[in-house]
Amino acid sequence: VFIAFEGGDGAGKSTQVRRLAERLTAAGHAVLTTREPGGTPVGERLRSLVLEHGDVVVDARTESLIFAAARAAHVEQVIRPALAAGRDVVTDRYVDSSIAYQGAGRGLGSADVEAINAWATGGLQPDLTILLDVDPRAGRDRRAGRAPEDRMESEPDDFHTVIRQTFLHRAATSPDRYLVLDGTLPVGEIAARVGDAVLRLADG
Ligand code: C5P
Repeated sequence: VFIAFEGGDGAGKSTQVRRLAERLTAAGHAVLTTREPGGTPVGERLRSLVLEHGDVVVDARTESLIFAAARAAHVEQVIRPALAAGRDVVTDRYVDSSIAYQGAGRGLGSADVEAINAWATGGLQPDLTILLDVDPRAGRDRRAGRAPEDRMESEPDDFHTVIRQTFLHRAATSPDRYLVLDGTLPVGEIAARVGDAVLRLADG
């Protein structure tokens, strides 16, 4: 199965990706974990182009195309081959992040961003998307101990509120393809619920 985690910065996605991989492995599955933007050498370089604080100025359309390009490489070089080899794939972010960040956050609108990503991915969609929902202020508090890792984290709270609402709206319109969980629940409880849902899907 192909599983994506989505949510704002500081929602705890990377921890849950790891926990889910451990649970699937313990259940006898072969698992590949990966992340976006990134996941391939070209993707990691595109990631730093867009996300590093620095003198590279990237407008919204360019940003959107760079993320879509990184995703095309990720799907072609990593995700499809792993699925074809019978592995489960768990990704930290996928197309919904682009619809939320570039479509809503940067104001490009969801239709165009969806269209370029449908082309970039050849229409590959996750079997289940797990949305870890957190209030942006809670996400910000969780990151308070460390310096902003990237440019997006420095955006104001209302940018992150729009992102959050976009994720929630998408989940609400296709409830069978999403599992929405409160990201402030204890890590072990989230992991248990995610693992149960994914194993039901994978083994059912
Ligand atoms: O998930 P992670 O924190 O590694 O994501 C890196 C950054 O990229 C985040 O700050 C996220 O907001 C941003 N991002 C984005 N557009 C995407 C995917 C990620 O702005 N399509």
